[in-house]
Amino acid sequence: MSTTSHPAERILLGPGPSPVPQRVLQALAAPTLGHLDPQYLAIMDETCELMRQVFQTKNLLTFPVSGTGMAGMECIAVNLLEPGDEAIVCVNGVFGGRMKDVMERCGAKVHALEVPWGETYSLEQIAEALDRHPGVKVFAIVQAETSTGAWQSLAGIADLVHSRGALFVVDAVTSLGGHELRVDDWGIDAIYSGTQKCLSCPPGLSPVSFGERALARMDARKTKPQSWYLDVSMLRKYYLSGGGAGGGRVYHHTAPINMTYALHEALTIVLEEGLNARIARHAAMHQRLRRGLEALGLAYIPKNSLHTLNCIGIPAGAEDLKVRQRLLADYGIEIGAGLGVMAGKAWRIGLMGHGSTVRNVDLVLAALREVLR
Ligand SMILES: *Cc1c(COP(=O)(O)O)cnc(C)c1O
Repeated sequence: MSTTSHPAERILLGPGPSPVPQRVLQALAAPTLGHLDPQYLAIMDETCELMRQVFQTKNLLTFPVSGTGMAGMECIAVNLLEPGDEAIVCVNGVFGGRMKDVMERCGAKVHALEVPWGETYSLEQIAEALDRHPGVKVFAIVQAETSTGAWQSLAGIADLVHSRGALFVVDAVTSLGGHELRVDDWGIDAIYSGTQKCLSCPPGLSPVSFGERALARMDARKTKPQSWYLDVSMLRKYYLSGGGAGGGRVYHHTAPINMTYALHEALTIVLEEGLNARIARHAAMHQRLRRGLEALGLAYIPKNSLHTLNCIGIPAGAEDLKVRQRLLADYGIEIGAGLGVMAGKAWRIGLMGHGSTVRNVDLVLAALREVLR
């Protein structure tokens, strides 16, 4: 019998969470410290430095928001937008749609740049949208749209956005630690991710990073962000050493101490493997899975597929729920259902972080072959 203290282990090959290495679980069990204990602050500072390395940024204001990826999304929206500001959000799936919703709740006037689900954006489409809406303060796009499995190239976007005086905001929840992502080289002004996708850490923190332009925008605000919890002007006085008056740290909320240990360990594992090697592993495992799925007659939905999330059409005659239930009951494998307009039409197989292995690829292919027979 499974209990809350001993649930049966699963092989997590869905849209997240991904499998968590034992080292990370063990890190969670280290002694809980106070959030102003010098020992803890040293671990937290190191965690922020590891985040900078994984984001490939020098941004000082890089820290883990307390909350999952959605908290990072809200944190960026509430701090960079004031009521009446205009923004462009690229909406080609669930998460772009959520960004639009979140930004509208900040009082922003949001122009949705829509393409059909599964498709991505060209630089021409982006330039045209920016020309249609001069005066936007923010341009936001999802690098890895987990609802459709589509991968968006970010190269060249920053120049277009910056030449119109806007900030470049990126959702990297399903790409950080799995796809190439260079925050500084690509001119990204604000970015958020999550711990439970390609970083293979339990859910609970959202790594975010703000560059100089974003800082200047926040400093020039006329109104307070409507979220007290996510107000960066206060959070930075805790997360940055010397951020408070007199150079100290100012308590804002109690940091999720043990989750910080877990993130520290997870980021250490990422850097031990090496970013390039890790990205290459995700690419190779995606190719291996793709060959196998296509041999089974399963077709990819997006033209530009992510390496971290494989979105395939449900074949005629297969029963969506039954197949997923059998994978879970007979093999302990979790895959994802379709989301939004793809509900009932797609399966989503995640190969994220610790889950992106030859063993898992071959196992899910063998299980699917058996279950679909
Ligand atoms: C998972 C995900 C989110 C939301 O993250 P949560 O951790 O579920 O809050 C946001 N954007 C994308 C692209 C995601 O895949």
